[in-house]
Amino acid sequence: MIPVSCGEIADAVNGELVGVDPSAVVDGAVVIDSRAALPGGLFVALPGERVDGHDYVGVASQQGVTASLTTRPIEGSPCIVVADPQAALGALARLVVGRLPDLTVIALTGSSGKTSTKDLIAQLIRPYGETVSPEGSFNNEIGHPLTALHATPTTKFLIAEMGARHLGDITYLCGITPPTVGMVLNVGTSHIGEFGSQDNIAVAKGELIEAIGPGGTAVLNADDHRVAGMRSRTQEKVVTFGEAPEADVRAEGVKLDGEGRPAFALHLGDFSGDVQLQFVGEHYVSNALAAATVAYAVGVTPEQIAAGLNAATRVSAARMEVTERADGVTVINDAFNANPDSVRAALKALVAIGRARGARTWAVLGEMLELGDTSADEHDAIGRLVVRLDVNRLVVVGAGAKPIHLGASLEGSWGNESAYVDTIPEALELLRSELRTGDVVLVKSSKAAKLRSLADTLLEDA
Ligand code: ATP
Ligand code: MG
Repeated sequence: MIPVSCGEIADAVNGELVGVDPSAVVDGAVVIDSRAALPGGLFVALPGERVDGHDYVGVASQQGVTASLTTRPIEGSPCIVVADPQAALGALARLVVGRLPDLTVIALTGSSGKTSTKDLIAQLIRPYGETVSPEGSFNNEIGHPLTALHATPTTKFLIAEMGARHLGDITYLCGITPPTVGMVLNVGTSHIGEFGSQDNIAVAKGELIEAIGPGGTAVLNADDHRVAGMRSRTQEKVVTFGEAPEADVRAEGVKLDGEGRPAFALHLGDFSGDVQLQFVGEHYVSNALAAATVAYAVGVTPEQIAAGLNAATRVSAARMEVTERADGVTVINDAFNANPDSVRAALKALVAIGRARGARTWAVLGEMLELGDTSADEHDAIGRLVVRLDVNRLVVVGAGAKPIHLGASLEGSWGNESAYVDTIPEALELLRSELRTGDVVLVKSSKAAKLRSLADTLLEDA
């Protein structure tokens, strides 16, 4: 972190210094895990589900932190005592970011594809300026300020992934790092249980567009009418992306190659160029256009963007990760998360790969969560699509996913091609006895359905 005195921190977080000199400086890492605490740093004591960070303040001070943010004085440890350490963490990040006037903050939200797009943006812009980007999926009231605190006077770009579970969440995150460029990728159905409707989700995501500062740019998805409609929520410049003809940054002629990777013509202003992505699945077209638009907004040229997209590789795991086992079975692990759109995209990629190789294809699918009232219909529709796309075998895992099996069994002439099992071990048993060399297996479900462990075991098997 850039050096800040404890007195300045106490002022910013409305805290009281106990056993710490106001002139003592924090210039090391800000951490929430005492095992990562380092000399000169700051430890934030958060109440966890199983442990209370306050139990580790002593450990952190032994490791040399300048102070800890706590809710009460801790005997023998320098503390900045506050009402709410999590809120104080946000206020501290705000203070630090406020001291970096040349920093360009790129904030993005959406129901799906945030992390994938964030990783792509980082790859496109990093060659043109020092970039701080969240690790993994750090996108909440804790991960976001921790990421922001990595920014220094030499940082040019700070990328911020923002997730929303409630109205006001994104406004809070944007208060910490007011966006220069703000983007909404899509409005799907994740967390619909909390929000009630997709329109309410749009209200929450649109908070990001309202938070864009003067002279900033809003980046909106022209293919998603709820996102395109957010234009009215800002006075700032708006740039759109998508396959729609009116989009400012467009993809035309999208095709999947034999590895399931999309190729398309990129149109950006007067520029047109061919792009062949290294990612598997059509949904990456939207993510790539989104990242291209952001890069363009911060001054990367269209030629550099096209070259960057061609070269970009996957960073975060379990997102359309294709691995061939020693025995020649290929596993497509997309079990990080699932929604109807991404399952459709994953199935199309599976079929493209299977067709190119003349291979037998398997879809191993678990429940897609957070679909509210539409859940049974959405699962049923996926089952029918599996049959229509001519996937060879389907394994449906877990009670919540059963309508996929029922849909497949009702569509066309399927008999034994679809199997339903209650548990992951049963699915593994079936796959172990039936998979043979050359087969291509897609594994996909929502996070909570945990098919990621099935994919991991399948990969360890051979
Ligand atoms: P989280 O809210 O969990 O942080 P996220 O928005 O960061 O998720 P990613 O981690 O990038 O999203 O991707 C999660 C899953 O969403 C992927 O496995 C993929 O199936 C799907 N996905 C990625 N991009 C898109 C997209 N543009 N449209 C629909 N689904 C997508
Ligand atoms: Mg994420």
